[in-house]
Amino acid sequence: MQQAEDIYIENASESDKKCDAVISVIVPFYNEAGQILMTLESIGKVLEATGLRYEILAIDDGSHDSTWDELVACAAKDSAIRLFRFSRNFGKEAAVCAGLDEALGDAVIVMDGDLQHPPRYIPEMIKLWQEGFEVVEGVKTARGKEPLFSRLFANVFYGMFGKLSGYKLKNASDFKLLDRKVVDSWNILPEKETFFRALSAWLGFKRVTFPFFVDERSTGKSKWGFRKLFRLSINALTGFSSRPLLLINSLGAIFLIGFFILSIQTLIKYFSGQAATGFTTVILLQLLIGSMVLISLGLIGIYIDSLFREVKARPRYLISETFEKSAVETMDESSYEGEAS
Ligand code: UDP
Ligand code: MG
Repeated sequence: MQQAEDIYIENASESDKKCDAVISVIVPFYNEAGQILMTLESIGKVLEATGLRYEILAIDDGSHDSTWDELVACAAKDSAIRLFRFSRNFGKEAAVCAGLDEALGDAVIVMDGDLQHPPRYIPEMIKLWQEGFEVVEGVKTARGKEPLFSRLFANVFYGMFGKLSGYKLKNASDFKLLDRKVVDSWNILPEKETFFRALSAWLGFKRVTFPFFVDERSTGKSKWGFRKLFRLSINALTGFSSRPLLLINSLGAIFLIGFFILSIQTLIKYFSGQAATGFTTVILLQLLIGSMVLISLGLIGIYIDSLFREVKARPRYLISETFEKSAVETMDESSYEGEAS
């Protein structure tokens, strides 16, 4: 049995560890030229003020503009910044996965690169983590300014997602802090198509939420087109619920009952010599059943597609280039030593 004194010492070392901790901040960037310096500087300033050691992992998700050059310019001046460049655009989910794979910190914060997840909340997140929470999640108090269509789409999606999967994600965000334990658990999840917001809820652990106000984007516009959002929504639904597949069975059962009722009516009409009048019903039924069959087949197709992509087991992302000042310095030193010997 553990002695009270031992427990005290263990707890003390745990809190010491948290005061002496390393914080990793993961920021994905996709075509964010003009925004990089401002984002990295404001995150850096807040982290500096915490007095803790930190690293910032910036992931360039296959940008076509000067995002990478701007990132390298920042990282060349600051050894706390580590850069990863994707071979193409793999999407924000993949960028977050890359960050979680590479992060070395005791606590890892994930945030957007457009400052819509304001860095001023970082100290509060770290404080909650130091109090013992293992997942600290930002909940939007207001969704910020966004087009009516996006708001509508988000409401419909979260409503459906909540009903089908049981996870209530309305106003949830990707602005989160994860303890090292949680990151390690995340990193052994084998699925290739991830949905960070819900999968991190699935992991469990000691959780706490904090409200945050979504700032407006200072430059550029949202990088989520309708196609990307739609794809993510389908991945999320198929990844978290097989209920749609089961719903097809219920739909089939309802139609079978309808079929029995209508068949009795049709037979009565047939035997009483009024069969021709049922023609309209036949056409309507054919159309309805035909469309239900096609929708059901399509739904099964979506799940097969999702299985197919998981079975292929392609990596979540490919990194084409990395950059960090400290690595360059170590290389310079070792080549110098090499020349000298
Ligand atoms: N992002 C990314 N890959 C993408 C789309 C977006 O890495 O394919 C990044 C983007 O640069 C930003 C963050 O993900 O840092 C959030 O994107 P955005 O602001 O466009 O999303 P919204 O705020 O509209 O949800
Ligand atoms: Mg944004």
